[in-house]
Amino acid sequence: MEKKKEIIIIGSGLGGLATALRLTKEGYKVKILEKHSKPGGRLNQLKIEGFTFDVGPSFMSMSFELNELFDSYKIPNPIKLKELDPLYQVFFENREKPFKVWKTLSNLEKEFKEIEPNLAAKTERYLKRAGEFFHDTEGKVVKSNYNNLIDYLLQLASVPKKHIPYLFKTMWSEVEKNFESEEIRVIFSLVAFFLGSTPFETPAIYSLLNYTEMKHDGYWKVEGGMYKIVEEIVKILSAEGVEFHYNTEIVGVDNSNGKLYSLLDHKGKKWTADIFISNSDAASFRGKVLNRKKFSEEKLDKMDWTLAPFTIYLGVKGKIDGLMHHNYFLGNNFRGYANTIFTSSISPQKPYYYVNVSSKSFPECAPEGCENIFILCPVPDRRFKNNWDDKEELSRNIIDDLSKRINFDINKNTLVKEIYSPVEWESMFNLYKGSGLGLAHGINQVGAFRPKNKDEEFPNLYYVGASTTPGTGLPMVIISSKLVTERILKDHGRVIS
Ligand SMILES: Cc1cc2nc3c(=O)[nH]c(=O)nc-3n(C[C@H](O)[C@H](O)[C@H](O)COP(=O)(O)OP(=O)(O)OC[C@H]3O[C@@H](n4cnc5c(N)ncnc54)[C@H](O)[C@@H]3O)c2cc1C
Repeated sequence: MEKKKEIIIIGSGLGGLATALRLTKEGYKVKILEKHSKPGGRLNQLKIEGFTFDVGPSFMSMSFELNELFDSYKIPNPIKLKELDPLYQVFFENREKPFKVWKTLSNLEKEFKEIEPNLAAKTERYLKRAGEFFHDTEGKVVKSNYNNLIDYLLQLASVPKKHIPYLFKTMWSEVEKNFESEEIRVIFSLVAFFLGSTPFETPAIYSLLNYTEMKHDGYWKVEGGMYKIVEEIVKILSAEGVEFHYNTEIVGVDNSNGKLYSLLDHKGKKWTADIFISNSDAASFRGKVLNRKKFSEEKLDKMDWTLAPFTIYLGVKGKIDGLMHHNYFLGNNFRGYANTIFTSSISPQKPYYYVNVSSKSFPECAPEGCENIFILCPVPDRRFKNNWDDKEELSRNIIDDLSKRINFDINKNTLVKEIYSPVEWESMFNLYKGSGLGLAHGINQVGAFRPKNKDEEFPNLYYVGASTTPGTGLPMVIISSKLVTERILKDHGRVIS
């Protein structure tokens, strides 16, 4: 019997785990080396005194990508998803009551009838164009491997020409054209921040994300919490014989005959395999571990990165009626906020933030009569604000604001509390300067312009995850795992044992 080819994956984020699942099923022997003490990367879990928190992601979108991962290998899907409608609620500073954002357009129209008449028809029209772009590019551009720039440009050229103007318009101009109220414009343009820019700079083509959230698929709750995704995949991988080594950070490599020969961990141990895949950030791994000049700190600093997370985890006594599973708290100076948030060197004075309370849907995440509150406030990355010694102060500022806006004294009822500033996010998962979603998605950093999933020098080194193709977010890194698997199978073949 032919010996199975051995693959080492550096990192156990969703990108790494999904790739491990695919390659194990293709007959490879897989080992995962992880810096952190637990699997999942940013999709992680925190347990404190009876409270369970999802550490990072809380929204599951494009659920068909998660389903594809299991379906393509005929594995019974162990993840139970429940669709959200309303999707979330939004608190504006100058309004007493929050707005619920419904996926069902007749409900959405009722919710906003005072400030945005005929909203259902307007949204239908807006999403129709966004949807056309989504379907015209999904297969050709997003789910394709490119061998070179020409290959990419040829794929782009096959996208219908009617979409070209939307590359040059901004997302804000598109929402301004379609909607009259500031509130709806702000709500529909929030997704730009996830891509690493503001709606005043992001091309209008990215309104396709509104289409995926409002029409195509929506947002989903993962029964038991987001970390179930990790637990279930790890269970399958362990049964398949995949080895996990935690607290193992790769800091260097050895090569031989033009190939990558072994990895060096922080304790000096060497790890050999036939093929290696980095789930560590595709840009900073090339710089920090491989010492590539094109990815030196100076070059990485000049790239565009998504905002850094400032997160607070609170176990609170009492049930809070004003909060839903997903909630946004926004101020009333959207343009001013957008213009300064990426590059400010001080903590936001009037923070915009998101609040997740998974105990609203899954009571087992908090002791009886309590809520688990997760607050995410996007802040500048460490290129702009390096020192986060003021984290307690920013946390107090946010909690005081939240208490006022929901009319519930959180400070008085807090049983447990944990804060992660960009410093902790960087050190836990090697996120470059604390950037939460990795490289941004301007047109100069997507497709063939994004760090490739196949190494430029070593023919047996590949990449998967948020900073390689196609991009960031849970569904995108699942697609990334499919793309890198296709590359490896093309280069090294399926293994029959
Ligand atoms: C606060 C926050 C909220 C988010 N919310 C959402 C959301 O609601 N929905 C959504 O779709 N997406 C969301 N995202 C984005 C999503 O989390 C990421 O796009 C996705 O999880 C990235 O997965 P990955 O596999 O690329 O990388 P990671 O999850 O970062 O995994 C990489 C792994 O590699 C390990 N590693 C790194 N370097 C080394 C090394 N040298 N040696 C060994 N191991 C190493 C890390 O420790 C980590 O475990 C959010 C992100 C953050 C930070």
